Amino acid sequence: MSTAATTLLRNCSVFDGVTSTPLPNAAVLVTDGRISAVGPEPEVRSSAHGSVTELDLDGGYVMAGLLNMHTHLSLSLPGPGGDAVSALSPHALALYMASGARRTLLSGVTTVRCVAEKDHAEFALRQSIADGWMLGPRIFTAGQALCCTGGHGHHNTDAIQCDGADAFRRGVRAQIAAGADLIKVMISGGIAGEHEQIDTPQLTADEIAAVLDTAHTWGRRVTAHAGPAPVIEEAVRLGLDCVEHGYQLTEPVAGLMAERGTSLVPTLIVTRCKDFFDSLGVPEWMQQRSLGASERHVASYRMALEAGVEVMLGSDMPPFWPTSGTTATVRELEHMAEFGLAPLDALLAGTIVPARWLGVDKEIGTVEPGKYADLIVMDSDPTRDVSALRTLRWVMKGGEVVRDDRIPSQV
Ligand SMILES: [Zn+2]
Repeated sequence: MSTAATTLLRNCSVFDGVTSTPLPNAAVLVTDGRISAVGPEPEVRSSAHGSVTELDLDGGYVMAGLLNMHTHLSLSLPGPGGDAVSALSPHALALYMASGARRTLLSGVTTVRCVAEKDHAEFALRQSIADGWMLGPRIFTAGQALCCTGGHGHHNTDAIQCDGADAFRRGVRAQIAAGADLIKVMISGGIAGEHEQIDTPQLTADEIAAVLDTAHTWGRRVTAHAGPAPVIEEAVRLGLDCVEHGYQLTEPVAGLMAERGTSLVPTLIVTRCKDFFDSLGVPEWMQQRSLGASERHVASYRMALEAGVEVMLGSDMPPFWPTSGTTATVRELEHMAEFGLAPLDALLAGTIVPARWLGVDKEIGTVEPGKYADLIVMDSDPTRDVSALRTLRWVMKGGEVVRDDRIPSQV
């Protein structure tokens, strides 16, 4: 369903991501896919020229679309569910990922950061979405993750194995050559690796330094899958830009991250998603490791908040995946709020903060003139309680309405 070149979104409250409370009786003017005005309805209306299509939002709350910073559209965990994904032909895999991308967008996630996808399929997907062949979020991707031989994620084609500084440099360059926006490296063990522990260090200091050095020279930021504090400390000192999971932070290491400006994507949901694991037939050893890590994981997250580490929304689970009556993305935001982040800060952690990390904060992440009209609408005020996102019912990307629950069966 495409909309006219100029659209007035009216009868709504707007949380713009700049001021802390939603503006009531507001309107947003969208021109050629971008926000051209936002404010009190009469003002916005008077700034509109030419033919304008009006869209009544029925008193809903408008905010910027969500950014999910830890996404795998080709995820395959151990167990029959994951095995089925791993067994897909290249063509079937691309279609499977396209389906996931569409559902991601419809769930209100208008931008994703992919941090390990199989076979570089997401580069074609990213292009197809940009070309308008299919619906999907804006995609920023690391390509394949880099790990050591036998390291975290090695059993899948969403990671490549490197050993020694030269091989890691080559790994970085290969991802950039394919079109990677950032680099993902596995510097410790994790939950999904049978022959490792969460706290197994996996790279040598010269390998980590080679990754960071090469990526930074080429203008790419680096995020690392990392659990234990000593491994994180070493990488942060070497210049790491972001930590995924951070299962076992300590206060000093959290302090160091805050000092160095290293962000954290805590993915709290991955140690508390038994329903997801059960639905994929994830084996008992992995479930035990995951659920057994949850208490330490939360303590670690609280230390990060206390220290002032910048945290960002990321689900690891497919963003749209149904869980606990909502999606994995919204559930993760609820966890982030429940364990210590104020609702307002949680919303920023899912919008403008990631946009800044990705270097696209002039394009997306708030509801401000000049930015892409990537917008979502819900029935209640998200600044009071992030669970308001459970009432999400309307999604716009780049000025195009892709979901409106008042109209049955569209996309
Ligand atoms: Zn992951």
